[in-house]
Amino acid sequence: MNPSFLFLALFWASSQLPDDGEVVPSSFTKAASSSPYLVEGSLHFDRGTEPGIWVPPGEQLKFKVHVDLGVLGQASAGAVTMSSGVEPFVSSLPLPGKSRETSEDMAGWVQIRAQGKHLGYELDHTMTTRFLPQDWPRVLSSEVQKGSENRQRELKLGPGTDEWNLSYRSDSHCHSCTRREHFVEASLPWNKDYHCKRCKRGEHRLWGSSRERSVPTQAIDILGAVYLARSLVRDGADELALCMVQKDRLWDVTLKQGRLEDIQVSGGHVRCREVRLSVSRPEGEPSDGGKFSGLFGIKGDLKIWFHETTGVPVLIEGDVPIGDIIDLHATIRLEGFEGTPEAFGFVE
Ligand SMILES: [Zn+2]
Ligand SMILES: [Zn+2]
Repeated sequence: MNPSFLFLALFWASSQLPDDGEVVPSSFTKAASSSPYLVEGSLHFDRGTEPGIWVPPGEQLKFKVHVDLGVLGQASAGAVTMSSGVEPFVSSLPLPGKSRETSEDMAGWVQIRAQGKHLGYELDHTMTTRFLPQDWPRVLSSEVQKGSENRQRELKLGPGTDEWNLSYRSDSHCHSCTRREHFVEASLPWNKDYHCKRCKRGEHRLWGSSRERSVPTQAIDILGAVYLARSLVRDGADELALCMVQKDRLWDVTLKQGRLEDIQVSGGHVRCREVRLSVSRPEGEPSDGGKFSGLFGIKGDLKIWFHETTGVPVLIEGDVPIGDIIDLHATIRLEGFEGTPEAFGFVE
């Protein structure tokens, strides 16, 4: 079975419509006082338009992944953990003539990790996004996949001199070099050792060069979009249009609020608001013949259920194509939570 359904969780949407191109400085504020809907100490990442992104200071959400196998019932397929934090911002290099800044600036991070095993295939995929109180990069997103396959990706977003830019790089298997550790022992004594042609070993992979391009102002990565969707629900707004960046590609995403429903999780029911994500290729973007389905195994639209007042994600649903013929329905359901807002909880 294709393990890509695990990536469902990595999947929400985001970003913002191109506006007049004005670069709005991003500001960070901590939640002034405690509210039942936001944990005290949450960091506000201002995008110049509402809603902004709020990063909870110490939240951990655990989910179980299930795949619907029709008459065979449901199969458990792995676990997903979402966490976040707020910490003092340390710029990596002090400016010339200055000692390392000990500013009051805070930075926020959010992380999603998917772990699973199926038929000998092992997956451990972590995606981390940092929201930084500086221009470049303002958003730093990294992806590390371990297990049966190894892969790393890095995406930077932020205002350049007159427009927003992205910089993207990924690793790939080394093509040829003289490093002995990339060589494979010859199987026959009269043959020479040779440079590995292609394997899944992480040690044989090297970073490629960065690709740069301009993007709409306030374009955001996938995890940023998740947190924007949370804000949308908390604010009670109906709809939000975004420009989401995945690798170095742009997607138009619409988040639309739907019905209320009590969703069953372990321990009780949570009253949730449905948010549908529809994704399309923006005009003028190169079409590589693919639909959104190529990414993370998702096909078509995605549904996420958020707790109605706090926006804590509770259930993610989507269809995952297996081969060209079968679509499986996958669900990622909340199992445990820590550090959530006071108002989050079960229906009485
Ligand atoms: Zn090499
Ligand atoms: Zn290799």
